[in-house]
Amino acid sequence: MLDKFKDECGVMAVHNHREASTMAYLGLHQLQHRGQESAGVVSSNGERLYMHKAMGQVADIFTEDVLSKLPGNLAIGHTRYSTAGDSAVLNAQPIMVDCNKGMIAIAHNGNLVNANEIRSRLEGQGSIFQTTSDTEVIVHLIAQSKEHTLPEAVCDALRRIEGAFSLVMMTRDRVFAIRDPRGFRPLSMGRIPNGGPSGDTVVFASETCAFDLIGAVYERDVKPGEMVVVGPEGTFSRFFAAEMKQSACIFEHVYFSRPDSVVFGRPVQTSREAMGRQLAKESPVEADLVVPVPDSGVAAALGYSSESLLPFRFGLIRNHYIGRTFIEPEQRVRDFGVKLKLNPIRSLLVGKRVILVDDSIVRGTTSRKIVRMVRDAGAKEVHVRISCPPTISPCYYGVDTPSKGQLIASNKSIEEIRDYIGSDSLAYLSLEGLRVACAEGEKTTYCTSCYTGVYPTEFIPLDQIQPMAVKKP
Ligand code: SF4
Repeated sequence: MLDKFKDECGVMAVHNHREASTMAYLGLHQLQHRGQESAGVVSSNGERLYMHKAMGQVADIFTEDVLSKLPGNLAIGHTRYSTAGDSAVLNAQPIMVDCNKGMIAIAHNGNLVNANEIRSRLEGQGSIFQTTSDTEVIVHLIAQSKEHTLPEAVCDALRRIEGAFSLVMMTRDRVFAIRDPRGFRPLSMGRIPNGGPSGDTVVFASETCAFDLIGAVYERDVKPGEMVVVGPEGTFSRFFAAEMKQSACIFEHVYFSRPDSVVFGRPVQTSREAMGRQLAKESPVEADLVVPVPDSGVAAALGYSSESLLPFRFGLIRNHYIGRTFIEPEQRVRDFGVKLKLNPIRSLLVGKRVILVDDSIVRGTTSRKIVRMVRDAGAKEVHVRISCPPTISPCYYGVDTPSKGQLIASNKSIEEIRDYIGSDSLAYLSLEGLRVACAEGEKTTYCTSCYTGVYPTEFIPLDQIQPMAVKKP
């Protein structure tokens, strides 16, 4: 399979819709790219919560029969790629509990950097955990809070956790949407006018592409450090933490989010095309064609092509219908995995000097195979352009990354990487160029730790990042 950082999770919440669980399911379907291991929905009919979660993809898990057993006007949903805790169904989300604060369901996108520390302390005090997921720590902190109202208890719990968390939470009659004070992961709020039995439906989703399918209109982002509560008394918002410098994940713009989403207030497609234009300005090369590595390299390749005035061509075609497992022929086929996913159009490539645009190189193994594939198809020269800087350090904020030792750019120079992947030239977008392309400024400031090794949180798992020193920003 392709050599990429793995997406994290997607969350969805619906308040006041007569088919709330179906709306949540449809939203999750749009967020499928954020996690394909498991999915779940919890609904409420005002009296109790109903839950269904399973391993697999959204469309396979939620049949009409399953959705008919998730009644009520409120629902939250989650699609998961495990970033903390193993991938058993036990760790699928939402997590639902009946505690001293009532019935609560919670779904989390992100990763808590101090979860192990809190968990050991709580276990020492007698708490019993049902999962190995970091999200369960939040539930225990809410249950243990001495605050008397649920919103106060939630804020109390949120002040004790550190790291990345975009959360949706639900009780019998309220939906909560929460973002960590640094705003690592996106979370947007939308509205279906007059969608519900008593007026507007309010929805929340990791990405705005989830709104389009259900007819919701994007209203705003949940702000870093904000908790929005939608309930019988209407919608209210409060901030649970002091303002701090935002660290929105820049990789959402580079790769994770869908190009049809608006993330951190900016269309992803706009950022990706700007990355390509910037890359063409910084690293031009004489060539005949600009060819994207599909799908994620397409927008940047369009930008590169428009800036360089070189023609854009789909010289590699992607097969979208690959299952999780496939049977390889006994007689070994070189680069079989990549060939399953991508196939070159020889008539376009033969005799041409090709600029191959991709969004990242993680281990380098796939890039090497793709370069070989393009050369075997007859290209005269292959120049690789990457629409972000070299990834040199792991992520601790909800993204599955290989260890530092496996990241090719943390161990090799750019020339050594070029030599390894076998291209005629190789260039990455500069960090400054990436910031410009994503419009960093007063409105949004980004986390760029996987390119710098400098982390915005005080606490990170030190043992995992040796030998690089950890510096505070
Ligand atoms: Fe995003 Fe990289 Fe920061 Fe992780 S380390 S939050 S992937 S920018």
